[in-house]
Amino acid sequence: MALDDIKTRIAQAEAAAGRAPGATTLIAVSKVQPNERVQAVLDLGHRCFGENRVQEAQGKWPAFMEHYDSIDLHLIGPLQTNKARQAVELFGTIHTLDRPKLANTLARLAQERGDCPDLFIQVNTGEEPQKAGVLPADADAFVAEARALDLPVRGLMCIPPVDEEPALHFALLAKIAARNGLDGLSMGMSSDFETAIALGATHVRVGSAIFGDRTPG
Ligand SMILES: *Cc1c(COP(=O)(O)O)cnc(C)c1O
Repeated sequence: MALDDIKTRIAQAEAAAGRAPGATTLIAVSKVQPNERVQAVLDLGHRCFGENRVQEAQGKWPAFMEHYDSIDLHLIGPLQTNKARQAVELFGTIHTLDRPKLANTLARLAQERGDCPDLFIQVNTGEEPQKAGVLPADADAFVAEARALDLPVRGLMCIPPVDEEPALHFALLAKIAARNGLDGLSMGMSSDFETAIALGATHVRVGSAIFGDRTPG
């Protein structure tokens, strides 16, 4: 089964990098996947999943949560402030904090609820205009701003440009995290998670290599 295969490769990458076994959390990215495939992975005992849209996750996960304990959901796609309340109610971790307005909204919700998901700040390491995330040059200031709001910032997240060497982006993200005293690194997908683990990833987001292609139909 693909899940076991990915877990083995993660363990090998951890060992090769001299990192502790289990140092990397595997987020199985289930967006757009048919429910049968998601259920098959749940039945293998996996509980950590990633979704990139709040609405899709809301339609899909409450039913699974009635049948399976300890499901741990991670939001890995952009979050609009008007969906923030639904997001904090459903997700244990949000990987896409990327602007002051969203930080303020999350801080207000945290005050009101007495609870906040773990947060990763998304950094646009490739400085791509169409991509979300703070620019590398603005990252330190934004980390400080989020901390000043008492938000539980656990680490940084990036999605490297498709046509560039991902290792350069993972190394940059690790460097920004280290100088800000952050331990969490959400980086690495199906095609490059082993490289990400070598460079310190604590969370890899793997979709198609576990579930198969997302092509509809
Ligand atoms: C879809 C997605 C992934 C998983 O991509 P695969 O290539 O299928 O592993 C990881 N991270 C983010 C932010 C995504 O949107």
